[in-house]
Amino acid sequence: MLLADTLASVRQRIRTGCEKAGRSPDDVTLIAVTKTADPAAIKEAVRLGVTDIGENRVQDALEKHAAIGDAARWHMIGHLQTNKARDAVRLFSLIHSVDSIRLAREIDKEAKKIGKVQEILLEVNVSQEATKFGINPDDVTTVYKEIAPYANIQVKGLMTIAPEVADPEMARPYFRRLKELKDALYELRELSMGMTNDFEVAIAEGATMVRVGRALFKG
Ligand SMILES: *Cc1c(COP(=O)(O)O)cnc(C)c1O
Repeated sequence: MLLADTLASVRQRIRTGCEKAGRSPDDVTLIAVTKTADPAAIKEAVRLGVTDIGENRVQDALEKHAAIGDAARWHMIGHLQTNKARDAVRLFSLIHSVDSIRLAREIDKEAKKIGKVQEILLEVNVSQEATKFGINPDDVTTVYKEIAPYANIQVKGLMTIAPEVADPEMARPYFRRLKELKDALYELRELSMGMTNDFEVAIAEGATMVRVGRALFKG
């Protein structure tokens, strides 16, 4: 299928999901996850109106950014190693995957060097799977309170990756829990949750950003 068609279909799914949830589609940002897409496909996505690109490796993002530039906002959605913080703050509008105070401190330090206030999300391992990165739900408030005063970081919200389940309905409790955690930290606005298989459920539970790869770029 052409990207124009897959994109139209994803946008329709977002609109339908928003209608069902009584929400405005303007309140949900589509982040096109391009980890399997080459620069030509990303350029095409941007030409078709995609404004937000998600990558999960700094090195790949650097290479693609060299080809595409700042025609879209770049989102870091994968695990970020401390030693990549320098490159990350130069490239990304939003880092979704901040999962430790140590990493936040490094981001703050690197952002300060270039006079930037780096917007971030805290990644929460809601499902507490051993294979996943993210802050334990019980520690989110403590970590947030530590990071919130950093001068060169602004915490915008929370992010999670739901478990891979056969029925997207089974992801709902994890999305709901992330929303509860966000609501408890009342300054936060953004909820990055929902992927190809489960983004309608995430929208129903309050997602403000959905990260969609496979439904767009089928290879
Ligand atoms: C790959 C990836 C996505 C997109 O997943 P799809 O199932 O391809 O939509 C979203 N979030 C993260 C963190 C990812 O690594």
